[in-house]
Amino acid sequence: MKLYFVQFAYLAAAASFIMALRWLSHPTTARRGVRIGEFGMALAVVATLLHKDIISYEWIFIAFFLGSAIGIPLAVWMPMTHVPQRTALSHAFGALAASLVGTAEYYLHTGELSAFTMGALGIEVILGYLTFTGSLMAFGKLQELLPGRPIVFKGQNFFNLSVLALAVGLTIYLIFNPGQTELFPIIVVLSLIFGVLLIIPIGGADMPTVIALLNSYAGLSAAAMGFVLDNKLLIVAGALDGASGFMLSVIMCKAMNRSFTNVLFGGFGQVQAVAGEVEQRTVRSASPAEAASLLETASSVFIVPGYGMAVAQAQHKVRELYDALTKRGVDVRFAIHPVAGRMPGHMNVLLAEADIPYDRLSEMDDINPEFPQADVALIIGANDVTNPAARYDKNSPIHGMPILDTDKARTVMVIKRGMASGFAGVENELFYMDKTMMLFGDAKAFTADLVKELAANHD
Ligand code: NDP
Repeated sequence: MKLYFVQFAYLAAAASFIMALRWLSHPTTARRGVRIGEFGMALAVVATLLHKDIISYEWIFIAFFLGSAIGIPLAVWMPMTHVPQRTALSHAFGALAASLVGTAEYYLHTGELSAFTMGALGIEVILGYLTFTGSLMAFGKLQELLPGRPIVFKGQNFFNLSVLALAVGLTIYLIFNPGQTELFPIIVVLSLIFGVLLIIPIGGADMPTVIALLNSYAGLSAAAMGFVLDNKLLIVAGALDGASGFMLSVIMCKAMNRSFTNVLFGGFGQVQAVAGEVEQRTVRSASPAEAASLLETASSVFIVPGYGMAVAQAQHKVRELYDALTKRGVDVRFAIHPVAGRMPGHMNVLLAEADIPYDRLSEMDDINPEFPQADVALIIGANDVTNPAARYDKNSPIHGMPILDTDKARTVMVIKRGMASGFAGVENELFYMDKTMMLFGDAKAFTADLVKELAANHD
C-alpha cells in the first residue's frame, strides 16, 4: 500500500515539475508555476521519507535543520541582484549531495554493481564533483571574492581535457573492474580539479551563462543518481533540470552572440580596455525639470531598464512615470535586453512586480528596428546593453554582444549616478554623444523627481 502511495506521489510530483516549467514560461502564469513546483517538491520529499530503505530519521532531521538554517537566511537576505551567485551556491550544494550519495553507493555496494549502474554512478560522481568546485568558483567570481578576469595559460584546453579524459578513462576501467577501489578517490580528485580548471579561464561577464550550464550538469548528475538508486522521480527531475539549464545557457549565449565553445574555451574577457591615454571628454547633463519638459513633448519614449533600476528598486517609480507620460498621450514602451540586470528575465520580473502592462514590454529583436522613430530613449540604470562599442570594437570584452540600438533614437537620456562603468567594466561612448543627456542621480530618486516635475507642469 505504502509502495503504491510512494509511486503515485512520485508520478504526481513529476507531473507538477513539468507543469511548473510550462507555467513559468509566461509572466501571467509564473506564480502558479512556482506554487505547483513547490507542491511537487514537497510531495516528493514526503514520499521519499516514507521509503522503506530509510534507516535513520535522526540524521535526516539533523540535516534538515542544518540545511534550513543555511538556506532560509540565504534566500531571505541575499538581494535579488545577487541571485546568480546564490544560484551558483545552490548548484554547488546540490551537486555535492549527488556526488556524496554516489560515493556512498560505490563503497556500500562495491563488487555488486552492474556495469550499467557503475557507468551511471561514474557520470553522477564526475559531473557532481566538477559542478561542486566549478559552482564554488563561479560564486567566488560573481561575489568578487576571486578575480573576475580569466586566468589562462599555454596549452590550457589540452591540459583541461586531459584531466577530464583521465577521469572518464578511469571510470570506464572501473566499469569492467569494479573492485579496484583505489581508483575511485583518484576519479573524485580529478573531477574536483577539473571543476576549478573549467571555470578559471572564463571571465566574470560570462559567469551567468556558465551558471546555467552548471545547473544543467547538476541536473544530469541527479538524473544519473536516479539510475543508480532506481528512483524514477530523480531521473525525470534531473533530466528536466539538465535540459532546461542547457536551453537557458544556449539562449544566453545567443543573447551575447557567443558560441558555446567560445564561452567555455575562449578565455572571454581577457581583452581589457586599453588603459593609459585617459581622454578628457565632456558630457551634457540635465536637470529633472529639463528632462521632464522634453519627455512630455515627445510622442514616443522607449524606456530601457538595466541593473541600476534593480539596485535602486526604482520599478514602482518607473510605473508612476509610465502613468504620467501615457496620461499625456506619450506612447511609452519598454525595451528589454535579454541579459539586462543580473539574471535572465530580471527586468521582466521587476516591471511585472510594478504592474506595468506586459504588452508594453518588447524584446530586443522586435524593438531595435523602431529606435530610429523613438523621440527619446530613456535609459534607467543600464549601461553595457546599450554600448555601441559592442558592434565594432574588437578589443571590447563585450564585442559581438547584441545591444539595444538606443543610439539611433532622436534623443538619449541616461539616468545613472555618475560615470562608472557597468558589469563588463568598459566605458560607454553613448554617454558622450551630442544627442545624449546625462541625468545624474539615483534611479529611484531621479525618476521620482521626473514624476514630480511632470505633475507640477500639469497643474
Ligand atoms: P550594467 O551592469 O552594464 O550597468 C549598470 C549601471 O547602473 C552602472 O553603470 C551604474 O552606474 C548604474 N547604477 C548602479 N546603481 C545605480 C543606482 N542606484 N541608480 C542609478 N544607476 C545605478 O547593467 P546592464 O543592465 O546594462 O547590463 C547587464 C550586464 O550584466 C551585462 O554586461 C551582462 O552581460 C551582465 N550580466 C547579466 C546577467 C543576466 O543574466 N542578466 C547576469 C550577470 C551579468 P553608476 O554607478 O554610475 O550609477
